[in-house]
Amino acid sequence: MPSPRFPLYIIVIPILLSGVMISALAADNAADIVDSATFLAAYMTPAGPAAERYSAAADTLLVQMTLKEKVGQMTQLEIGMVTDGLDTAIEINAEKLHKAIGEYGAGSILNTNHEGLSPEKWHEIIGAIQAEAKKSRLHVPVLYGIDSIHGATYVVGSTLFPQPLGMAATWNPELMLRGSQISAAETRSAAIPWTFSPVLDAGRQPLWPRLWETFGEDTYLATVMGVATVRGYEGTDVSRPDHVAASLKHYIGYSYPTNGGDRSPALIPENTLREYFLPAFAAAVKAGAHTVMVNSSEVNGIPGHANSYLLKTVLRDELGFQGVVVSDWQDIEKLVTIHHVAADEKEATRIGILAGIDMSMVPSDYRFSDLLLQLVQEGKVPVSRIDEAVRRILILKYQLGLFDDPLRGEESKMMVGSPESRRESLEAARESITLLKNAKHTLPLAKTTHVLVTGPDANSLIPLDNGWTYTWQGDKASTYPKDYATILQAIQQKVGADKVTYVPGTTLDREVDIEKASAAAADADAVVICLGEWAYAETPGNIAELALPAAQIHLAQSMLETRKPVILVLTEGRPRIIRPVVDAASAIVMAYNPGNEGGQAIADILFGDVNPSGKLPITYPTWPNRLFTYDHKAFETGELGTNTLDTPQFEFGYGLSYTTFLYSDLQVTPQTASGDQKIHVEVTVKNSGDRAGKEVVELFLNERFASITPPLKRLKRFAKISLHPGESRRVTFELGPDDLSFTGADNKRVVEPGIFNVRVGDLQQVFETVRTGRH
Ligand code: BGC
Repeated sequence: MPSPRFPLYIIVIPILLSGVMISALAADNAADIVDSATFLAAYMTPAGPAAERYSAAADTLLVQMTLKEKVGQMTQLEIGMVTDGLDTAIEINAEKLHKAIGEYGAGSILNTNHEGLSPEKWHEIIGAIQAEAKKSRLHVPVLYGIDSIHGATYVVGSTLFPQPLGMAATWNPELMLRGSQISAAETRSAAIPWTFSPVLDAGRQPLWPRLWETFGEDTYLATVMGVATVRGYEGTDVSRPDHVAASLKHYIGYSYPTNGGDRSPALIPENTLREYFLPAFAAAVKAGAHTVMVNSSEVNGIPGHANSYLLKTVLRDELGFQGVVVSDWQDIEKLVTIHHVAADEKEATRIGILAGIDMSMVPSDYRFSDLLLQLVQEGKVPVSRIDEAVRRILILKYQLGLFDDPLRGEESKMMVGSPESRRESLEAARESITLLKNAKHTLPLAKTTHVLVTGPDANSLIPLDNGWTYTWQGDKASTYPKDYATILQAIQQKVGADKVTYVPGTTLDREVDIEKASAAAADADAVVICLGEWAYAETPGNIAELALPAAQIHLAQSMLETRKPVILVLTEGRPRIIRPVVDAASAIVMAYNPGNEGGQAIADILFGDVNPSGKLPITYPTWPNRLFTYDHKAFETGELGTNTLDTPQFEFGYGLSYTTFLYSDLQVTPQTASGDQKIHVEVTVKNSGDRAGKEVVELFLNERFASITPPLKRLKRFAKISLHPGESRRVTFELGPDDLSFTGADNKRVVEPGIFNVRVGDLQQVFETVRTGRH
């Protein structure tokens, strides 16, 4: 297990390198400093071991391989192709295994058959697979891959963290890094060296059922969190028994479907793609990510798996990605069946491989292997393209140390779900939860309060976790551990069961006993109403309406009619519309999907044991059909705040605390910059309340005039700081030419001379730049 503490060199060296620093006016502990630029400077360097080190070994193998063996390496099959049985009753089928590995030489296997498995069971299954590979002519180990999305999803007993949208709400990349380290170690301890994470799709379409898998709508926040995740997974040496290879997905534009549905077409002009969607991938490539998974859908009419411009020109030539590109599920076949860009599967295979797919997640038949073999024999796919792909796959296997020990990680015998790891997860959940409203200081509640707890999400772990939890959909109650508290149970433990009444009120979309809840509210001092969504992943999570189901709104309205203080707690993977009940609610707590520790974390915040510090990583919309991101164009909303149509329910970056923070003395120097001059921004932040708290200092920039209509504002830096009551800090950021640039009409980055507004907290300053030219 890696040390859970932030290593010292990370604190010291990057500060020297980047020139970004935060100095304390009062004595403080530097270890709690987290600043976005410092963090990026520390981690955006390539991770090892370098591919070059294995070039010769890969070439030596390559020349010995038959064409069939090479095509086999490019084939990824699902676990059912080598096993029988479902769930934990899964067993290796020797005949199937021999066909997959012995005959076809499949290079990779993925997934579980429905439920997660114990580490021991994984060792048994993967042990048998690797033993079969060992028997093959060249003994090439198999690369096992899995979706460890918020922890080791499919390893029984693992530590599960808030889903990525919640992790983004912490605005704390150190937490993301440490969580990813734990996730990697627990995944690898099951002998699995590859995770299909992080999702770097920009979460800019709130209907999209995978929004909660993203780091939210902002490019910069997602970039910082993405780099943290990659380096947490991969470390500086991905061959170590506690690291796994990351897969950046789903390259690119998958998250922005026009109709909001999963795997639906997106229309994204190239300069928008480059400005908002590409930077997180570019940074994660720089941070050393070893694999990329492709967008299952299409952008501008070209399916991701057929888009050689994006897969080659942009990903390889521009971003310099050297690793393996893997398809998404069945997506070569879908070029025929869904996208209709190929008449048959053979043509689809040719298109996909020539577009740049190195490995096909086939996953349930051998047609890909057979067809690719034929295509090469017929001269329709050059051997050089096959060699290029196989070379990358072999190098990755070397980098992961699989040739030395194909079960690496197994021997660590680490304790998955250790108390320390669970504490990290609890900490992340606490820092993610975002207080959106707190009228008349309703929260925190006194522990003597008699509360009515109601609502469909009050008494289940399922909505705390959402999809990719023990199963793909995350909705199988029997797979959940018994030793974590639901929101209801955590409140009962906190204040004593005798002070808590529970009435479900509704299911997700059906009224159950609202009248009973109203009657119970009459006897309570306050009502905690737990609303939101259940678990879903991918297409099954599609919705036609962003509003919260009518039954839940009715329950909330009935509670509000009792005139008791009503606290809304939202556990949801996307922002469901709550406008009808926002004004009358006393307090609103956004919990996202906080993971198994979420019940505890929510109770800690409701009753004041923890001071909330999460900030929204998305815009919370007021209206279902009036959607915009915070970085929209100014004229999209008229004058923000003057018209309820144009006012988001809660803004991106918003979140309250039980204390107050005062911003003062914002200074920007120089006021006129030229050449490569840096812009220094300083501000004093004071905890002006009476309890300790954490504040996210957010720096936004906007250019007043530009050749492409400028967005209202863009996040450029942030730092999460801790302040005791009365304590002040001077926070210093430094902006460079990159931060002032944008993607011009010719799709190239440009810095134009102009006037910039800098906003930090409620303060604003202006500077001017006379810098010109390409950047
Ligand atoms: C999803 C991917 C996932 C893959 C393997 C696909 O359906 O789109 O995100 O990694 O399945 O489970």
